[in-house]
Amino acid sequence: AGRADLVRALDLIRDIPDFPQPGVLFKDISPLLADGAAVRAVVDAMAAQAGPEVDLVVALEARGFLLGAGVGYARGLGVVPVRKPGKLPAVAHRIDFQLEYGTATFELPADVLSPGARVLVVDDVLATGGTMEAACELVERAGGTVVGVSVVLELAALGGRRRLAGRNVHTLLTV
Ligand code: AMP
Repeated sequence: AGRADLVRALDLIRDIPDFPQPGVLFKDISPLLADGAAVRAVVDAMAAQAGPEVDLVVALEARGFLLGAGVGYARGLGVVPVRKPGKLPAVAHRIDFQLEYGTATFELPADVLSPGARVLVVDDVLATGGTMEAACELVERAGGTVVGVSVVLELAALGGRRRLAGRNVHTLLTV
């Protein structure tokens, strides 16, 4: 997939005003995911951006799963899901964190992240960075090293990159 495929793919991201709350401009990647050439271009670009020193992909529920599974496949790496509460039968670590509106909880499955693993954390959109920061902290509680975080789209005005200061943030598009 070339640069033109990637540009076309990112152009498929759709703006949905006032979802899930009034005043929020939701960036919907569904049309991108539904297009075979587009999703391949995006996943290949995320896989290439990450650099060679990655042992494991950690993917965030739920849209991060769709991208992270592809990145893992492209790189020949395993994928660990970070999940919302109540889904995992065996939990290694749990973290509560703030969202723009309200709070949320993530859980990391037991016995799948080896101490010392070099981890790439994958999600669709970086907004305030609270979600990504919580996921990174979970990985670190399990003894992993976050070598990079990768998203398709960064909403720069919400300050996620500042929140993740010191981390290696990869993004395909910043708006
Ligand atoms: P944040 O914790 O504020 O960085 O929010 C990032 C998480 O919420 C990601 O999992 C995104 O999928 C989702 N999210 C937050 N804001 C948006 C938005 N404007 N459009 C699409 N997804 C968003």
